[in-house]
Amino acid sequence: NNKNSINPADIDQFSSKHYPLCMRHLHEVLRTNHHLKHNARLIYGLYLKGIGLQYEQFIEFWRQEFTKVMDGEKFNKEHLYNFNHQFGKVGKMTDYSPYSCMKIIMGNVGPGESHGCPFKHSEPAVLKSKLNEYGVSTDGLTEIMSLVKNGHYQIACTKYFEHVHLQPPTITINHPNQYFEESRNLSID
Ligand code: SF4
Repeated sequence: NNKNSINPADIDQFSSKHYPLCMRHLHEVLRTNHHLKHNARLIYGLYLKGIGLQYEQFIEFWRQEFTKVMDGEKFNKEHLYNFNHQFGKVGKMTDYSPYSCMKIIMGNVGPGESHGCPFKHSEPAVLKSKLNEYGVSTDGLTEIMSLVKNGHYQIACTKYFEHVHLQPPTITINHPNQYFEESRNLSID
């Protein structure tokens, strides 16, 4: 076993404790709808690979969720190839890298799609109530929403980290997987 591998049974807990907002949103949408659209699947899939989900468990994770709304045959026919592709098991056999914040922030999010950076792509009122629900104080909300208003999305994310962990990350957040690692490091200490 790779020392950085994670246990799929821990993913729900990781989502609420260690995920940045963008990935927590994708995880929650997936658990609720048992489905994600193409870009969201790709972005969340590569992130999961980045946090240490191993190949067999990665395929199992998606299969279990998707087969709540479709049969196994449809999953194999329509989705398995793409998930294998993310891991570089088929096609050009490229080991794709997880998306950085910049790539997520600059991406287009169409109607009904759930990927994107919530600091950039969410309606301010929706973002604010999410932050409140996730335990950010009133002072924190004011600070974060003002950064968002001025287009400082990654700094807003860094402040969010600081407010929920009661200490800042070691450097400004620039990658969802970096957020995860910083958060995990705090709880492993
Ligand atoms: Fe995700 Fe980066 Fe946006 Fe934070 S700043 S929510 S890590 S895309």
